[in-house]
Parts: sequence; C-alpha cells; structure tokens
Amino acid sequence: MAEFDNPYVDEDPFVRAHFDCLDCGGKLWEYAIQGQMVCEDCRSVFRSERVFDATIERPAE
Ligand SMILES: [Zn+2]
Repeated sequence: MAEFDNPYVDEDPFVRAHFDCLDCGGKLWEYAIQGQMVCEDCRSVFRSERVFDATIERPAE
C-alpha cells in the first residue's frame, strides 16, 4: 500500500475550497464541474475566478 487513493475524488463534485464567502465569510465549496463556488452558509454562488481575484487582492492571514 504505497499509494493512497481517495475514493471520493472522482465521485464527489464538491471540493472544499480554502476561501471565504465574499458576502458572509462562510466556507466556500468549489463545484469543480462548472468552475463555481457555493457558500455553505448563504448559498451564494461565485465564479471561481472571481474568488481567486478577490482573495489575491487581500493580504493572507
Ligand atoms: Zn456566504
């Protein structure tokens, strides 16, 4: 068992993203198929690119 394959990688389209919601600061989940992110709190949907840009503009914590 030299390698570990995550059995959920191919089945779960949602990937937990390391970004905060631009509206409420909740956790964003990336919807890999459509390149979008959805907030688990307020359900806002953002384009991944937009989240990336907004995050880059702010200093990392
Ligand atoms: Zn939110």
